[in-house]
Amino acid sequence: MRRFFSTPTNLLSRPPNPNLSIFFNKYIDKTQIYSWNSAIADLARSGNSLEALITFFSLGKFSLKPNFSSFPCAIKSCADLSALKPGKQIHLQALILGFESDVFISSALLDMYVECGELDDARKLFDEIPHRNVVSWTSMIKGYVQNDKNHQALLLFKKLLIDESERDVGDFLVDNVAAVTVLSACSRVSEMRMTRGVHGFLVKRGFEGDVGVGNTLMDAYAKCRDLSIARKVFDEMPERDVVSWNSMIAVYAQDGHSAEALKVFSQMLGGRDVDYNAVTLSTVLLACAHLGALQLGKCIHDQVIRMGLEENVFVGTSVIDMYCKCGRVEMARGAFDRMKEKNIKSWTAMVAGYGMHGRGKEALEVFYKMQAEGVKPNYITFVSVLASCSHAGLVEEGWHWFNTMREEFKIDPGVEHYACMVDLLGRAGCLNEAYDLIKRMKIRPDFVVWGALLAACRIHKNVELGEISARKLFALDPKNCGYYVLLSNIYADARRWDDVERMRVLMKNRGLVKAPGYSLVELKSKIHVFLVGDRKHPQHEEIYQYLETLYVKMKDAGYVPDTRLVLHDVDQEEKETILRVHSEKLAVAFGIINTVPGTTIHVIKNLRVCGDCHTAIKLIAKIVDREIVVRDSNRFHHFKGGFCSCGDYW
Ligand code: ZN
Ligand code: ZN
Repeated sequence: MRRFFSTPTNLLSRPPNPNLSIFFNKYIDKTQIYSWNSAIADLARSGNSLEALITFFSLGKFSLKPNFSSFPCAIKSCADLSALKPGKQIHLQALILGFESDVFISSALLDMYVECGELDDARKLFDEIPHRNVVSWTSMIKGYVQNDKNHQALLLFKKLLIDESERDVGDFLVDNVAAVTVLSACSRVSEMRMTRGVHGFLVKRGFEGDVGVGNTLMDAYAKCRDLSIARKVFDEMPERDVVSWNSMIAVYAQDGHSAEALKVFSQMLGGRDVDYNAVTLSTVLLACAHLGALQLGKCIHDQVIRMGLEENVFVGTSVIDMYCKCGRVEMARGAFDRMKEKNIKSWTAMVAGYGMHGRGKEALEVFYKMQAEGVKPNYITFVSVLASCSHAGLVEEGWHWFNTMREEFKIDPGVEHYACMVDLLGRAGCLNEAYDLIKRMKIRPDFVVWGALLAACRIHKNVELGEISARKLFALDPKNCGYYVLLSNIYADARRWDDVERMRVLMKNRGLVKAPGYSLVELKSKIHVFLVGDRKHPQHEEIYQYLETLYVKMKDAGYVPDTRLVLHDVDQEEKETILRVHSEKLAVAFGIINTVPGTTIHVIKNLRVCGDCHTAIKLIAKIVDREIVVRDSNRFHHFKGGFCSCGDYW
């Protein structure tokens, strides 16, 4: 928090503070400067920074001159209050009295300028300090890091190392505080070489056993996207605290390695040397949400309730997110309604949750309620609102909020908002309107925006715009073969077989291979993973047999395998076989075999569910009379009685 005084003289015109009179009774001798210095120091150290400053500026009234001991605590008070003007005035007084080269005063002044965010003044002072110690180096580096000038922090650290190398052997300037500060700069700019350099230095100096150093090091490697070294640092730490465990779990969970995150959590439970806290549970819930591990998520939720953390807004929001992403939006709503304190993230999570299940009306209701309770929507809230409109096909509401966001809430639409609008318009068949919107964008459209248009072209069979968006996508995201497949499907719909063949050759020549699709099913708190044509699962024979019997019933019900989607040089029969063993079909069959009739099946797929599987699962849901919920990379599909909640647009 920043509090500025208008001018230092205003301090003097303030009414006397009752605390001060207590002090003056204690320090009887008002004629002696040392009494005043003690009073200033006591006030500053006890957190009464404002009173310390008033005392300092009262010296003149008693015709006393501050001596060198009067300054450091007065300057520290300015730093604590981020009070630049009185700080500058005190600096001037120190200059006039010739104290500015005093090591304590110059360190305090440097710190004060850093705390006030006046980095240029700080640097000027730093460069003039005749005998810099590590405190001053660390203050200056910390100042750069705090103000997000990480490259400057790193440059200064290099200078520090040079300075240190010119000193006598064993006369070290860098301590673990400086090293941790530099590491946090490395992690912010993902500077791998520097991180390695600092790491080597820490080992050489014997700092790497320090738990704070280890935690920061782990974080720095994770930010440089080297998870295996981050893990190595974690494994080799002689001592770990709850922060270390939480960081390791978070590193995995945030990078999508949810199974690893859960493994570390169970290791933490097994070790029993540290207790988990709200942050741990919140991170574990994130991993459960990603994996769709509902049973485990519920266990964690129970633990949250037992620990009385459900009212913690941070944890509560993670609970909402977990239930939404595990397909249980009603349970999310229950947890949401029980929260006594909701912040913008909790409201946004609930809006997004309804949105991903295609329940746009409920999403908007929550959004209206949020505004009625005086919570102002932010950038992310509007992404969720527009996505909800898109998943529910609410074109009018989408346009309304897209315009209101800018006009009323002064939030400029970002690329995410445009992507939602293109998606919304595209699904509704307004392809030209969507294309016009892209052309009018003030920011550069990214692959998500063009990808939304391409997907819409596939649904509405528009070859011309499909080709335009695909060309953009090939340039923006050249390694992703999904776009080639989509364009190929558009050609297939238009019976342009030469172009289909051209796409196949193009993919082959560019060495593009489809990302492996996989599907997950949770059974009795264990996650089962299925790849296409998977024969590794212990129950695979049973699964394939069951799919055969389903297949016969599906064909009786009129199912025709959509083999156009198979981009392989194989005959019709083999194409059908390839489709039949798609991971989501295997996962659905596995779920049905292993649960009692009537149980809802939850499947999670890493990619978009393919058209053939979508048709097939609609029929399977009807044949076995089950509700089947599939979460794909884009949204939820609730299959029931031969229909899907997405209305066949996804
Ligand atoms: Zn499929
Ligand atoms: Zn669907």
